[in-house]
Amino acid sequence: METKNCQICGNNDWMPLPDPNKNQSVTTASRVLREPLGKSQCNHCGFVQRTRIEFLGLTDYYEQDYATYYDRPGTDLFHKKRYAAIIDWMTSYLDPKSKFPKQIDIGCGQGWAMERMREIYPDAVLEGVEPSHYNVRVAVEKGFTIHEGKIEEANLQAGSYDLVFSNNVIQHVNDARDFLQQLKKLVSEDGVIAITCPDGSRPNIEILWGDQNFSFLPENLIGLAKQIGFNTVFWACSGDSPSLPPAQLLILTNNKLYDQLSFNPQDAHVDLTDIYRKRHEYLSSFEHISKHLLANIPEGSRVINFGASYWTSVLAAYCPEYWDKVAFCLVDTDAGNSMFMGKQVLEMQAVTPDNTDTIVIGTGPGWQQQLKDKLSDTWHNVVLWDDLLRY
Ligand SMILES: [Zn+2]
Repeated sequence: METKNCQICGNNDWMPLPDPNKNQSVTTASRVLREPLGKSQCNHCGFVQRTRIEFLGLTDYYEQDYATYYDRPGTDLFHKKRYAAIIDWMTSYLDPKSKFPKQIDIGCGQGWAMERMREIYPDAVLEGVEPSHYNVRVAVEKGFTIHEGKIEEANLQAGSYDLVFSNNVIQHVNDARDFLQQLKKLVSEDGVIAITCPDGSRPNIEILWGDQNFSFLPENLIGLAKQIGFNTVFWACSGDSPSLPPAQLLILTNNKLYDQLSFNPQDAHVDLTDIYRKRHEYLSSFEHISKHLLANIPEGSRVINFGASYWTSVLAAYCPEYWDKVAFCLVDTDAGNSMFMGKQVLEMQAVTPDNTDTIVIGTGPGWQQQLKDKLSDTWHNVVLWDDLLRY
């Protein structure tokens, strides 16, 4: 598998992007990798690829380690809501009269998207494909038929699915073009392929993950899709919404019902110099965030990280000196007595505040000030950092 050439345009002319930390990176499963992020932007098409490090998909990561992604405090509710929002958005572009009697979810995880699809299409036969053994077991317990393995390994009936859908998978695969070809094999003559993935035109958390090999600009995704050979290639991007991180959607079909579906190519256009500058700045921010956090922790203070999810894992990996100082994570949900990345997770009522405590917000940017206001009733020293992470 050649990881050096751009999977979109074939060139080997990369502009390196900074590593948020020189020694380590982190995966969406909160696993710290002892290797830098290693991503670069293609000088010709703006595609981001993990060029300096081997793809994790070439190891047994997805089979063995991926499940820990779901094994975190409060995740069930978090992912159920998140996938319901993605599915509602995705299905809003599908023909409302179509019943899609046979459907398959590629990379279905524990079946959160399928749970929502089952509500929308109660009469459909719904199958899933998933490489993680643990995830397969949970999805099967929910009553779904799951084919264990990667799509190319699963023994699926070609041309038999009326709807082939896949959410947040294409950025993880080893070969994005081959992935779309595999989906094409599965879909019926009049069937529809619908995929969603992060929108790489707005620098966001998606570029920080070591298990995401690619960041697609809209034109990257559309360009790739056009090479697959469907009559209709439709693209859309999500608006800014707290329930849906910046995302993009592709619909591929030969079904005439979708002939009229179109988009304005101008909406998909991104200036490559501008996006490189933004990505560069975004990835460089963690050096500043790390310094800022350390500067705001007084000597001898007990350090409490508020949160135990995505953004906390980003801080843990990219600001490791801060993470070393953290005594425990604090959450306002029912977390039981769990662990997160080696730290204990405690609920609010289990903690007696002390005047010398430092609370660092370990949740996503955008609403840290709001959280600070809330926590400041109890704690004097609440530290936020999202003003250092622009875009
Ligand atoms: Zn390229």
